[in-house]
Amino acid sequence: GSQVVDREVDSVCPFCGVGCLIKYKVRDEKIVGVDGRDGPANHGRLCVKGRFGFDYAHHPHRLTQPLIRKAGVPKDLDVERDPARWREVFREASWDEALELAAGKLKSLRDTHGPKSLAGFGSAKGTNEEAYLFQKLVRTGFGSNNVDHCTRLCHASSVAALLEGVGSGAVSNQVNDVEHAELILVIGSNPTANHPVAATWMKNAAKRGTKIVLADPRVTDIGRHAWRVMQFKADADVALLSAMIHAIIEEGLADRAFIEQRTSNFEALREGVRAFSPEAMESICGIPAATIREVARAFATAKSAMILWGMGVSQHVHGTDNARCLIALCSVAGQIGKPGSGLHPLRGQNNVQGASDAGLIPMMFPNYQRVDSAGAHQWFEQFWNTKLDDKPGYTVVEIMHKALAPASDPHKVRGMYVMGENPAMSDPDLQHAREALASLEHMVVQDIFLTETAWLADVVLPASAWPEKTGTVTNTDRMVQLGRQAIEPPGDARPDLWLIQELARRMGLAWNYPGEDSGVAAVYEEMRQAMHESIAGVTWERLQREGSVTYPCLSEDDPGQPIVFTERFPTADGRVRLVPTELVPADEKPDLEYPLVLITGRQLEHWHTGSMTRRASVLDAIEPVPTASLNARELQRLGLAPGDIATIASRRGAVRCTVRQDDGTPDATVFMPFAYNEAAANLLTNPALDPFGKIPEFKYCAVRVTAD
Ligand code: SF4
Repeated sequence: GSQVVDREVDSVCPFCGVGCLIKYKVRDEKIVGVDGRDGPANHGRLCVKGRFGFDYAHHPHRLTQPLIRKAGVPKDLDVERDPARWREVFREASWDEALELAAGKLKSLRDTHGPKSLAGFGSAKGTNEEAYLFQKLVRTGFGSNNVDHCTRLCHASSVAALLEGVGSGAVSNQVNDVEHAELILVIGSNPTANHPVAATWMKNAAKRGTKIVLADPRVTDIGRHAWRVMQFKADADVALLSAMIHAIIEEGLADRAFIEQRTSNFEALREGVRAFSPEAMESICGIPAATIREVARAFATAKSAMILWGMGVSQHVHGTDNARCLIALCSVAGQIGKPGSGLHPLRGQNNVQGASDAGLIPMMFPNYQRVDSAGAHQWFEQFWNTKLDDKPGYTVVEIMHKALAPASDPHKVRGMYVMGENPAMSDPDLQHAREALASLEHMVVQDIFLTETAWLADVVLPASAWPEKTGTVTNTDRMVQLGRQAIEPPGDARPDLWLIQELARRMGLAWNYPGEDSGVAAVYEEMRQAMHESIAGVTWERLQREGSVTYPCLSEDDPGQPIVFTERFPTADGRVRLVPTELVPADEKPDLEYPLVLITGRQLEHWHTGSMTRRASVLDAIEPVPTASLNARELQRLGLAPGDIATIASRRGAVRCTVRQDDGTPDATVFMPFAYNEAAANLLTNPALDPFGKIPEFKYCAVRVTAD
């Protein structure tokens, strides 16, 4: 509008993986507005979070001084989390005292109990440079690969299947390629709420004639734009997708040339889906065989067909199998390696792609180099000039178990460094996760608010919010994008990149990243060398100039490759590996005591654990209280009316919240967003893990709903 501002600063939206480019408007050293820029992913558009979700940075709850837990104050799981009462638990400290204590304790635990006694959780909300330095600190300073972040709770299963099948965990085609698709299959995803600007490209494509197929247990907004909606049963992905693959193969619609030239293991897949005819699967997945066949034919015969998926696919004990089916579906139909086709796991966090690329995962060094591959191990030992562990570390949920392991366990986790993650809200079975965090001998939490996790810390380091720093993030489309610092951190809060380096220095590491903004350019350049196979051509200077560059990008004159796998797949033999799957039911099925299915997820206005968006005034005003959604029939059966308060209970916990009517939610099912600490949905969820991706089953557990 006509707002008078002191300056405008180019950055990237800090919320979802779409990666909209923005301009911060700054007046009197405060952000007073956000405009969309003409970025490659958003062309000027923004959703409500990007446009209005900025004043969290100026919220009075911001941490402005290092805090140290007062002697003798217990780590009370039920602590009244009223931020105004922080003085009952913590005292203020100088930077020197806080950093000495934080690093000194981590060091002494490592020296006494060995490297495996420490672990680090980095963040998909931090920059690539922060992710890179954080994993380097854990690997070279803590001395093990016990480093992970919320990708474990997000697309770990998708990435496991993609690495196995196509040799790369990233998307094959960018979102705006839907423009060239004749058909798009949206499965396990609610893009209007979770990738809103991406959803507008899908809707535009539909207006121009692209057929959208929505396959999801919940019929969400995108269903209004769909050609066909398949509201399948919440744990029947493999049944539905295998039936489609069966139909394509047995009806002679498979792409024979593609299968012969570019895939391996086809006969095993064919054998594997033989029993999965649409007729045999219709009662298991709840979709009529005729509809499955109709959609399968349309997918196989379309000139180009693309699959976009979200957590509805990945967050199951069979999440990796679900993604294997998507890879097989694309491959038998020859719908990959060309415009308007391919595989697109929609990334949630703004930098979950980049943080994973940078090595913030326990089994891989930067650029997905396996820690247990002799070549990669040797390369990184040389590159970092130090000895490295060659065993994969523990994942997020495993680290929680290891924190509660008996003292005799040589791998018991005793100390943690948590940067910008909130496992005390985001992990499954929160009571257990909070007990695990509280049991640690030493926990250092670096964040911008006193999060539910920070309440359990020994040392709290006040960090910088996104508009307070310069760095890069990588969106769902493999675009590396530059955000510039718009304002200063409040009080004595410091940039995360500085904090990681201070801890490293005090743990005895001789790092040297000179230059402004805590040496961000020097860190980026080191990371670029470590990741030369994907971002060699994305130099810091080029990012300053262009603002956004797509990888793979192998030289300075490479424009970047928006569509990959056109010639070969980056697997050992250059082919897609097809992997047959079995039917695996959800880990915990409804029964008489807990007769409903709980599905957790997000809503448009709130981001993940709510620490930012619930402190953004406009977003909080639109969605102020926790809700649970059920359809009209289910509400009536339970004697509830919209607006009533109900208790939702599982075997692991119970919460109270307002019920809402949503007729897109299937019968005998409840949907809850997980952003609300006063009714934390994850107190209810099941920590059972997918055996390959180690991702918990957030999308299915048994609950009971009772009127208050
Ligand atoms: Fe931000 Fe995502 Fe909304 Fe774009 S679509 S403005 S990146 S939250």
